[in-house]
Amino acid sequence: MQVRFWGVRGTIPTPGPNTVRVGGNTSCVEVRTENNMQITVLDAGSGIRLLGNSLLKEFPDGVHGNILISHTHWDHIQGFPFFVPVFGRSNRFVLIGQKRVGTRLEEIMAGQFIESYLPYAYKTLPADLLVKEVATGERFLIGDSTVVTTASINHPGGNLGYRIEHDGAVFTYCSDIGHPDDGFDENVLKLAYGADLLLHDAHFNTMEDRHRFSHWGHSCWLEAAQVASEANVKTLALSHFSPDTTDDMVDEILEKARKVFPRTIVAREGLVVNLPMGDTLP
Ligand SMILES: [Zn+2]
Ligand SMILES: [Zn+2]
Repeated sequence: MQVRFWGVRGTIPTPGPNTVRVGGNTSCVEVRTENNMQITVLDAGSGIRLLGNSLLKEFPDGVHGNILISHTHWDHIQGFPFFVPVFGRSNRFVLIGQKRVGTRLEEIMAGQFIESYLPYAYKTLPADLLVKEVATGERFLIGDSTVVTTASINHPGGNLGYRIEHDGAVFTYCSDIGHPDDGFDENVLKLAYGADLLLHDAHFNTMEDRHRFSHWGHSCWLEAAQVASEANVKTLALSHFSPDTTDDMVDEILEKARKVFPRTIVAREGLVVNLPMGDTLP
């Protein structure tokens, strides 16, 4: 299994000199399984734009894949209208996620493609797009042998965490999670248990901020490290950094997180990780 980070920022794209090393694009991760031919994308933040360009170069005659949407906060879907494969007739994508506050997933995705926001409509996109809603706790197969398990994790308006398993390797994606004050979200622990790699929200730089803004539904890097340890994961990737977190701040966070959970890495834009990982951290 190969995991590539295309967007690791939360809230809003954050270009500029202070974010060049970690990256400024919002949430998007690509997972390849089944000899690199099965494409599973997690979230469609602004990072998905560059992924789209890369896929068209690799598959000029048509690309097929699945896009798992954790939730439809804007930083997780805003790149979708700029994902160029949607403009090609020979491309096919299945969008997978859940309803949000009673509104169908397809309706929410299509809602970005209306005047006054964009000059083209979702219905006119030439690619073959299928939207599939899943329930929390649902387990389904992608391709022949990639197993995906979902679970609701705590975040305002709802959020799905994903556990992807293939050929003995496990990648868990828990972006945007607010843990209870007296422990950790049980579903995050379950999804993450024994994973080769856990991607976890690290929005807050201090527990003080995390408690002050607990209604935002995000985590501090310290909670990510504690969850990784509790769930017995092999490696932790910190992600979904606040737009105000600079590269230098991420360096400091990583140093501190490694004191709690030594096998911690930063999900940097462009970083590729092969699972299961060797002893050396990237
Ligand atoms: Zn987010
Ligand atoms: Zn969110």
